[in-house]
Amino acid sequence: METTDLIWMNGKLLPWEKAQTHVLTHGLHYGSAVFEGTRVYKTPQGPAIFRLKDHTKRLLYSAKTMGMNVPYSEAEINMATLETVRRNKLKQGYIRPIIYYGYGKMGLNPIGAPVEMVIACWPWGKYLDDRPIRVQISDIVRIHPKSSVTDAKISGHYTNSIMAVLSLDPGFDEALLLDFKGNIAEGPGENFFMVKKGVLYTPKLGTILAGITRDTIFQLAADHGLKVLEKTLKPTDVLKGDEAFFTGTAAEVTAIGSINGKKIGNGKMGPVTTTIQQAYMDVVKGKNKKYERYLSRI
Ligand code: PMP
Repeated sequence: METTDLIWMNGKLLPWEKAQTHVLTHGLHYGSAVFEGTRVYKTPQGPAIFRLKDHTKRLLYSAKTMGMNVPYSEAEINMATLETVRRNKLKQGYIRPIIYYGYGKMGLNPIGAPVEMVIACWPWGKYLDDRPIRVQISDIVRIHPKSSVTDAKISGHYTNSIMAVLSLDPGFDEALLLDFKGNIAEGPGENFFMVKKGVLYTPKLGTILAGITRDTIFQLAADHGLKVLEKTLKPTDVLKGDEAFFTGTAAEVTAIGSINGKKIGNGKMGPVTTTIQQAYMDVVKGKNKKYERYLSRI
């Protein structure tokens, strides 16, 4: 991976290679960590972090679900994130804050283990392909809402996503997970949308992560006079869609060309996906005044 000079760790900026943790870190053994994925973009007024405040809010919400006593306030985390990006002179890329139960105690109950926090950032381009991707519905089912707090971004949840990705058959780019009822849930790290007769459909909250990109898309669709419905979707519904796409901080807006080998529409990026993708890229790159409030300048 591409690196930067400094990583913020427990309040201090350390050289990249010095930001280390003990092998008996609680979070490493049990997934008792919470994290975010945030992006910084070049804008005409210089680099800006997109929806930093919302990512920090979700991070602290996730920390709460794991009983973490975080020694930093929301404002302090926002400041530390901006400082980390600024000091690394990062113009565009990805930011990874993580809070984890550290070293000092074993056993499943983490209370008593230190709560550690790290903020790293690095240059990172496209997460998924530019061309419409080939998606496969996974046999791995999205975590049950009663097994955990599914709208928290907890590291341990991601074994579910990793297994879905590892079990893809050759020739597929990304997985699409169903929930325990067999309804469409989401991608391993993306929310799912489909388009039918000019209307956007996306699964309801309940088993999925409440994506910040998903929320942005709701607003952009409204700006373009497009209706979005949160709806229970079956695999048969999505195979009949005119268009489909994934959204996420890393994936941005990624067109889906086929699902289980069946073309969606003509298999090319459709007009609604194109409009939404363009509108999203304009917002994150500071070309839409209406959404200035979402940009935190470095
Ligand atoms: N679902 C999952 C499981 C994810 O990991 C992500 C990425 N954070 C998303 C959806 C999209 O969320 P966001 O738009 O906030 O990045």
